[in-house]
Amino acid sequence: MSYLDISTWEQTFQELMEQEKPWAKWSLKLDGTILPGHTAPGWKQYQQTAFGRFWCSLCHRSWSSAQVKILCHMYREPGKSQGQVLMRVFAQRCQKCSWSQFEKPEFSTESIKRILQNLIQYILWRYYGHDFRKMPMIREVPLNGPHDTNNCEACTLGSCTKGSLKQTAKPSTFPTKICCSSPQMDNVLFEEPVGNPDPFFWFIIICLVVFALIFSPNSIKP
Ligand SMILES: [Zn+2]
Ligand SMILES: [Zn+2]
Repeated sequence: MSYLDISTWEQTFQELMEQEKPWAKWSLKLDGTILPGHTAPGWKQYQQTAFGRFWCSLCHRSWSSAQVKILCHMYREPGKSQGQVLMRVFAQRCQKCSWSQFEKPEFSTESIKRILQNLIQYILWRYYGHDFRKMPMIREVPLNGPHDTNNCEACTLGSCTKGSLKQTAKPSTFPTKICCSSPQMDNVLFEEPVGNPDPFFWFIIICLVVFALIFSPNSIKP
């Protein structure tokens, strides 16, 4: 599934949109010039992080990354149920080749669908008043590890450091969907997931304190 194969993206986008808003007319186009935080007047921005695979055109090695940044700028015609989305997928460079160019990623069909589902959920929330909490975003499995900032296009544009690419709206639940598990991830560019402290961690701490109070020698009465 190629990054440049916009027809696949466009077709999937239209199919998913048809299920939600059959009368709406939205278009999806690739645009390699849009920049994070630089929307035209009246446009909205939505960013997400996905799992993609890259190939170096010099040494032909491949690597996977869970930190592929996808930027969308969108606009809805005032008073109409039609709009347009511009999408930019940020590239990465090979770590091994000193003169490597930025390579565009490829995505699995499942990943493309997930990315577009999240995008459409955002459109429905932003422009049609849908409740985001009822349509939880599907995130890739969070993975730990260093992110190769020198070879990440989004990082070179100053928009990919930890926590800088925030989702505009966060639903209350994030069901994690494991996909795209690659048997050969020889150069995985991962970043620590951004998030709040695990509530389970605090639950354990509170339980320990309660148990300590209950079973401490002072509390045992004859
Ligand atoms: Zn290379
Ligand atoms: Zn980056």
